[in-house]
Amino acid sequence: MKKLTLEQKLFLNGFRPDRESHLAIIDQEKCRKCELRQCTYICPVNTYRWENDQITVFFEGCLECGACRIACQDCQNLEWRYPRGGFGVNYRTG
Ligand code: SF4
Ligand code: SF4
Repeated sequence: MKKLTLEQKLFLNGFRPDRESHLAIIDQEKCRKCELRQCTYICPVNTYRWENDQITVFFEGCLECGACRIACQDCQNLEWRYPRGGFGVNYRTG
């Protein structure tokens, strides 16, 4: 059986995004001072992007893996919760 690439596996997931984000930056000033901005490269689906001198959060494709919580645990600058019931990622075989 042919092995799927990460992109192909991600494409198998379904998403039902909520209107409101389940992820939020608490203080953008902290992000400006954050040396590594590790959230911008730890997330497998590129949720956090450094744009116009601030972090923008593209929550719609979040896989709910929790890696960003760990990446930002020293700064404690992420408000992280699961999407409301019925919203978010829907994992399929892959
Ligand atoms: S790791 Fe935390 S403090 Fe640093 S840029 Fe990301 S959200 Fe901001
Ligand atoms: S929970 Fe995982 S997929 Fe969602 S934003 Fe954080 S690192 Fe990205």
